[in-house]
Amino acid sequence: HLMKPERLGHCLERVLSLTESDAASRGHRITLEMTGESVVVNMDRDKIVQVLINLIRNAFEAMKDPGEVRIGLLHDGEEALISITDTGSGIPENALATIFDPFYTTKEEGTGLGLALCQKIALDHHGKITVHSEIGNGATFTLHLPMGA
Ligand code: ADP
Ligand code: MG
Repeated sequence: HLMKPERLGHCLERVLSLTESDAASRGHRITLEMTGESVVVNMDRDKIVQVLINLIRNAFEAMKDPGEVRIGLLHDGEEALISITDTGSGIPENALATIFDPFYTTKEEGTGLGLALCQKIALDHHGKITVHSEIGNGATFTLHLPMGA
């Protein structure tokens, strides 16, 4: 597994191009808004792309009606913040603590392994994934990656 300095802008453009057709076929919009696309983070790029595709697929699946997924990139001096925001069902407060547990799923054909794997990959990068959500108001998952690690 290759840890290499990678431009987050490249990475997110790749994620967008890999998810656009899925969005279109489900009737959703997906957009990318970046501040500091030239930010460089030491990462295993394929793994980070996998994390973001997982978060985006969950976002698509949380939207019954056609909705919007926004991919955002922000950074401060210490970390890059990549957010995935959807207009879906949201997550009940009492589930927020368990959604990262292996095998936790609310889907008939879910494995419940996606978020557990995403969190492991984030931790392997000395980062983390946080979530903010309100029932009925969608969800935002944020991947925090340390810069200059
Ligand atoms: P799976 O997708 O197989 O169910 P995950 O680990 O990816 O497993 O997600 C676990 C659970 O977290 C989902 O079943 C769902 O209940 C909840 N969840 C994840 N992402 C979202 C989201 N964007 N909006 C609402 N619920 C979500
Ligand atoms: Mg999933």
